[in-house]
Amino acid sequence: MKFKKLLLAAAFCATSLSAAAADIQLWQLKGGSLDLDKGWLTAMKDVGTKISVPVPVYVIKHPRGLIVFDTGNNFATSDGNCANYWGQGLCGAFKTTQTRDEIIDRQLKKLGYSTEDVKYVIYSHFHLDHVGNIKMFPKAKHVVQKEELKAAWWPEKFQRAAYVVKDYDETRSFDFMELTGDFDMFGDGSVVVLDTKGHTQGHQSLMVNLKKTGTVLISADAIYMADNEKGVIPGITWNTNESMRSIDRLKNIRDAKNGTLWYSHDPVQFGQNNHDKPYE
Ligand SMILES: [Zn+2]
Repeated sequence: MKFKKLLLAAAFCATSLSAAAADIQLWQLKGGSLDLDKGWLTAMKDVGTKISVPVPVYVIKHPRGLIVFDTGNNFATSDGNCANYWGQGLCGAFKTTQTRDEIIDRQLKKLGYSTEDVKYVIYSHFHLDHVGNIKMFPKAKHVVQKEELKAAWWPEKFQRAAYVVKDYDETRSFDFMELTGDFDMFGDGSVVVLDTKGHTQGHQSLMVNLKKTGTVLISADAIYMADNEKGVIPGITWNTNESMRSIDRLKNIRDAKNGTLWYSHDPVQFGQNNHDKPYE
């Protein structure tokens, strides 16, 4: 009996850890951009240095449905209209510089899809540069940590500015999948949500196992840039201790699976990655 249980456990591990057999395509796309002081991303390092960073969005074509991971800055902040939507104060700290054509709906169109084709929208968290266009997907299933939903609706005071409530104020009737930790989206290890709280209360990253490329870990804001992987504490964190733990977690999984770790706002790595064709 015990042996049978062991065999079952081994079979389960093999399924969830092996690169999935499913044919998956993963695009890393620029869904926006931000001009900001680097010190927001690397606490006490390069404070005062102005940088321009990409705001990535991801599209995953999976046999079980089309997925979008993060939706970028709200479309209304495009083409020099940052302050019209976010207001002067916010745009003073984080200025959007993207064109309207870079926003997720038009990025999907370039790939031959409409927003209606998207079955799942997964959010790393509800900060303004990640949840911005949630309202473009009223018919999708929205995958987010329950703790993040609570934080988004009533953030800690020191995190309040980064949650733009009008991004998601009319979404309470949307179909939310409220997660409480890791979640294997299709039960086959191909697309796995990872709990990486710290940047925010309910931050999550995404592990995608591809046939040719292998394991890609989309860290989102758990790791903004290479500096953070090397030990520089990320700025704008809800909980520094949890944040550093999540960075270690992602690095350990990357090393165990000989995978690739994608940062969220690193202009150097983003510039080196491929955005014209999908990773397979
Ligand atoms: Zn971000």
